[in-house]
Amino acid sequence: MLELHGLSVTYGKHRALDGVSLYTKPGEIVVILGANGAGKSTVLKSIAGICEGRVTGAMSMNGEGLLGLPPHKVVERGVALVPEGRGVFADLSVRENLMLGANPERAREDAQANYDRLIGLFPKLAERAGQTVRTMSGGEQQMVAIGRAMMSNPTILMLDEPSLGLSPLLSRELFQNLKAVREAGLGILLVEQNARLSLGIADRGYLLENGEILREERADVLRSDPAVQAAYLGGG
Ligand code: ATP
Repeated sequence: MLELHGLSVTYGKHRALDGVSLYTKPGEIVVILGANGAGKSTVLKSIAGICEGRVTGAMSMNGEGLLGLPPHKVVERGVALVPEGRGVFADLSVRENLMLGANPERAREDAQANYDRLIGLFPKLAERAGQTVRTMSGGEQQMVAIGRAMMSNPTILMLDEPSLGLSPLLSRELFQNLKAVREAGLGILLVEQNARLSLGIADRGYLLENGEILREERADVLRSDPAVQAAYLGGG
């Protein structure tokens, strides 16, 4: 289980997060909803060890502390981030990108088994194994980015705005794929502007406003709440 207790982040004098507490268990999808600038990316970056601000509070994975660890150590603890904007290597093939994801020690030994499991889950990646990523559609590139993170053999997968720039059709396909990831036993912590889609697949959600958690609720409860609908679902 990934747990945060009283996580606060400041960028210079600006306090971006103020005492954020949340958790994600394996086998569940958790979404963080919030307006632009609420601090959603800062939560994921802090966990991943790539936040440029001053981070305080407690963060742990299965009881082991994460605060202050460099990014590769966080990955070794089983927490992988798919950053906003994907971060794939455009000039490499799909297979090369995926294999780069298997670099952490926890993944090296089982790289082939992880690869086989991944392409079992996403057969399209296997069909495109030799293709240069640059020539793929936005949705396909997003799947490569997710696949690469999964090659690190994570327990919890974190995704920052995965549907950004994707068509509604590709976004729906992507979210169906995330359900498959959950069914494979991973936990997912998701930051997403598309509240309708994300609440549609999530088990639980947190509302983040001005760096503070306002509410934590089951996703279906949030989806049918008029206040949430007005704020995040365009009124319907
Ligand atoms: P969005 O949905 O627009 O991406 P967000 O909820 O992910 O927003 P963050 O990117 O976490 O928000 O930013 C939270 C606040 O921290 C914002 O006010 C932002 O301007 C500020 N911030 C983020 N990164 C930095 C940084 N590297 N230096 C200074 N301020 C930053």
